Amino acid sequence: MKQLNIIYSFFVVLLLFVLVYLYVRLGDFELQAKKNIESVIIKNTSYFIENVEKNIKQHVKSNLYKSLKSNPQLRKELETNMGMLITPSFKYIYVLYRDSAGKYRYLLDGSKEEKGLFDMKFDIDTQAWDSVYLSKEKKIVTQDDVSSIWITTLYPIVYDGEVQGVIALDFSTSLFQYISKVLSPLKDIFLYVFVATFSLLVVILYQMFLQLKTKRESITDPLTKAYNRVYLRDLVEKINLYNYDVAMLDLDHFKKVNDNFGHDMGDYVLVNFVKLLQKSIRSKDIIIRFGGEEFLLFLYKEKKKESQATEVMQRVLKTVSQYNFVYENSSLQITCSAGLVKEAFKYNSVQQVIKKADERLYSAKSRGRNRIVESDISACVDRLSLGAVKQALDEERLLCHFQPIFTLSTKKIAKYEALVRLRGEGEKLYYPNQFLDTIEGTNVYRDLTKNVLEIVFEKIAEHQIAMSMNLNLSDIIDNSIYEMLIKELEASKSLAQFLTIELLEYESLANDILLDRIVAIKSYGVKIALDDFGSGYSNFSIFENLPIDIIKIDGSLVKNIDNSKTSYIIVESIARLAKRLGLVVIAEFVHSKAVLDVLEELDVRCGQGFYLGKPDILMPTGQ
Ligand code: GH3
Ligand code: MG
Ligand code: MG
Repeated sequence: MKQLNIIYSFFVVLLLFVLVYLYVRLGDFELQAKKNIESVIIKNTSYFIENVEKNIKQHVKSNLYKSLKSNPQLRKELETNMGMLITPSFKYIYVLYRDSAGKYRYLLDGSKEEKGLFDMKFDIDTQAWDSVYLSKEKKIVTQDDVSSIWITTLYPIVYDGEVQGVIALDFSTSLFQYISKVLSPLKDIFLYVFVATFSLLVVILYQMFLQLKTKRESITDPLTKAYNRVYLRDLVEKINLYNYDVAMLDLDHFKKVNDNFGHDMGDYVLVNFVKLLQKSIRSKDIIIRFGGEEFLLFLYKEKKKESQATEVMQRVLKTVSQYNFVYENSSLQITCSAGLVKEAFKYNSVQQVIKKADERLYSAKSRGRNRIVESDISACVDRLSLGAVKQALDEERLLCHFQPIFTLSTKKIAKYEALVRLRGEGEKLYYPNQFLDTIEGTNVYRDLTKNVLEIVFEKIAEHQIAMSMNLNLSDIIDNSIYEMLIKELEASKSLAQFLTIELLEYESLANDILLDRIVAIKSYGVKIALDDFGSGYSNFSIFENLPIDIIKIDGSLVKNIDNSKTSYIIVESIARLAKRLGLVVIAEFVHSKAVLDVLEELDVRCGQGFYLGKPDILMPTGQ
């Protein structure tokens, strides 16, 4: 369609040029016609006027003025002869002389109209007449009028080398008007065709502009103005992978930006993130918004030249991490992670390159974020795909390991935490970090959570033992999971006293339904724990809003408690805070005796970790 429009406009412009050319030629034609007609007339006029001069000289041999003055009969005869030349085009023929004062007066007048009498003064522009007197040569005076022809021929009557009178013969015709009359409709037609063609051109150009605009909009992400997936679809078809390295880029913990600062701030960060990207990359690089906060970069590489991709990506990560995003009195800093694929041409298709970049991005995420991964060699985490997780669930290869949580003062098991695992082929076990991210937000995730719930309820019913399980806020919001939980609690009233729910990612708790549901769950006697407390953006107002029973101190704080003063002070403060709020404290990541000793010294109630007991399929019995 676009191609067709370009061809149309080419022909329309060509037509316009032809029209302009013809129009100009038409004007030339008019002038040329006028000139040709004039030269024919001038030639004929000269014959007439020469005859008139001969006729006068036949009758008057010398002293023209005196001879004519004294002989009115002669004047009449000559005027009659001259008058025979008069036609509608030759309207005036007369002879003037210059008196001693330099004024021109009539000698003869052969005209039929406005006839001048002998010796009568005639007011004329004397310049041409004077020049005939001076040069004694014939002179043609034409009037520059485009619509008619007006030629006056002046011819001197010379006696003995002296000009004694000048014959004037006026030719005028509107013949030329006829030419104009013939040409003017033609000119009008030209004008109409020109206007019509020009309008057509305007319409075609406007249509092209609209098409371009729509096309531009269809390939641009409205929020960030980066290209979107529609553009990617086109790009995939024409891109030469020899010319590009490909990177997948994702903002780190972006969900927290939305949760803590609001969606508008999230949008603001996205928009400005893309601006930073544009500043950090080169003009030939391409940015595509691949998903919510995931961007695909095609980094231009000249064939056979060394790739600059790593440097560009390093620049991107550095620029982003150093930037302060300020929006409505809030400011934040954010990092991003990237998976980079160089030598993209070695892959079979662009899709495969993107998949590889995505895998490496996740590898960058699992290695701690804010980094670029550009090889597979040390990719540590062997991840399961969504399909693989679904298959594992279908084939009932989901299981739980149970890790004991000890009461530190008695060294007795207070309860177990259920931790989900998937069994792969060949009995290989997969851990949550190998599949949870991939299935988040999907039905598979929901099914997995329900499976875990079932296992936990079974184990409690079987062993009558306290047990805790992890739930996201999104699990509680999910109607089917919530309803299943309530149904089980209703069905077995004794269940609740054994059950603890460890809440994950509770920073974003800002929802009344969620609060009501947690209160409802708790009303059965279920205990509520805050998991990973002290990491991320812990917010103390949560104690005001939520009915909490237990705090689990994040492993990152506990693991160094024996040699980091800061960790020690934080854990001590949390333990004290919990005690004053009447909450139970559980320390995670008790991996050594040294850590255990410090926790006991701080009077932390419970502990969990490899030093105390590893998660296992078998329910340990040593209570
Ligand atoms: P990670 O470091 O693992 O990437 O963590 P993350 O929180 O960034 O990743 P996750 O994929 O869990 O969250 C992405 C979030 O991006 C979820 C979604 O609400 C948010 N998001 C996606 N598109 C938009 C958008 O257009 N505007 C805003 N404000 N948020 C968006
Ligand atoms: Mg992210
Ligand atoms: Mg993401």
